[in-house]
Amino acid sequence: MQEARGKKQKAVDKTRETDRIQRSAFHIPHSAFRNSLLVWFRANARDLPWRTDRTPYRVWLSEMMLQQTQVETVIPYFERFLVRFPTIDDLAAAPIGAVLKLWEGLGYYARARNLHKAAQVIVNERHGEWPRSVEGLMTLPGIGRYTAGAIASLAFDVAAPVLDGNVIRVLCRVFAIERDPKEAQVREELWQLAGALLPLSQRGRGGRGVRGGGGAGEFNEALMELGALICTPRNPKCAVCPLAKYCAAKKRNLQDRLPLKTKRKPLSHFDVTAAVIRKNGRLLIAQRPFGGRLGGLWEFPGGKVESGETLPQCLRREIKEELGVRIKVGEPITSIEHAYTHFKITLHAFECELVSGQPQALQVQDFKWVRMSELEKYAFARTDLRIIESLKKRSTKNTKGH
Ligand code: SF4
Repeated sequence: MQEARGKKQKAVDKTRETDRIQRSAFHIPHSAFRNSLLVWFRANARDLPWRTDRTPYRVWLSEMMLQQTQVETVIPYFERFLVRFPTIDDLAAAPIGAVLKLWEGLGYYARARNLHKAAQVIVNERHGEWPRSVEGLMTLPGIGRYTAGAIASLAFDVAAPVLDGNVIRVLCRVFAIERDPKEAQVREELWQLAGALLPLSQRGRGGRGVRGGGGAGEFNEALMELGALICTPRNPKCAVCPLAKYCAAKKRNLQDRLPLKTKRKPLSHFDVTAAVIRKNGRLLIAQRPFGGRLGGLWEFPGGKVESGETLPQCLRREIKEELGVRIKVGEPITSIEHAYTHFKITLHAFECELVSGQPQALQVQDFKWVRMSELEKYAFARTDLRIIESLKKRSTKNTKGH
């Protein structure tokens, strides 16, 4: 009984909070709010390579690269990518291996595979014509609500909202939203808020979301820039914030507590092995199946240690399952710690010798025997790049020792 009453009370509280947020969104003078933000943005926006020549291709590429990745990391990748694939036709015509190679080290490789697939859809099935609506853009591989909103508003100046980590933080603070933005209902309310604040009509006076255009694209970008430069996760710079006079968190001194965070469970940990198998001066590398995690990338074959297994037992089993050969496990090369979004691993790499059998692609996409000097032609995940670094160091040491 008590529990049921508690649940009911929580539901009432949530509805009240939703009402309060909606009311406060209406109480903000929208055009003065936008104006303060845009004046600040026009004076303070960073010069970033994707902010010039706003073609849908450049906006899309930068938005895909910026997901989960810092601006400074993205800049050289973005520039290299455009040198190699200056147009969407060049990208669509390229082999996936070349795309993954340019993405090497950037992580979240599904983005690169989706980019390639979507380029082929636009070029081959839509004759180079981009969908302009959020709904149309979301039919393309790898384009979700955020990316669709960003392309529609920044490239086509459609009045579509965006909601990334920066916008969530700014909105949670400006409207003092004291609920977890990871909750689906809160997330939806934030989308509604981001939409309610947009300039009402499609303006496009300055063309595709450029500074000075005053349209949805410029507004979205300004809100994201404010989150990146002023309303930062820690120590927000409220004293110089153009939205300070509208900000409920600042008024109530809540800015350091918002957005609310639920405690993350500690990440699970796995031990993983990798075999550096040598034959006649060549190394055996395997390509991960396209459908899975890190699909299409190359690696030193191996896998996850099962309960009760030693590292060498794990390697012998994995290599038999994946490539159908027997190996002898030799000395350890290196151990690498790495954290992914949902788990972390320790990767143990070993020197190995082929004992019997001819490799076959049983549970891998492909395999190759390559010289050390040829490794750079293939795209590897960050962990395997570190194994390659260790191999190079060892071979330099050995050469010096002779
Ligand atoms: S006043 Fe402070 S908390 Fe509010 S939006 Fe500006 S920087 Fe963020």
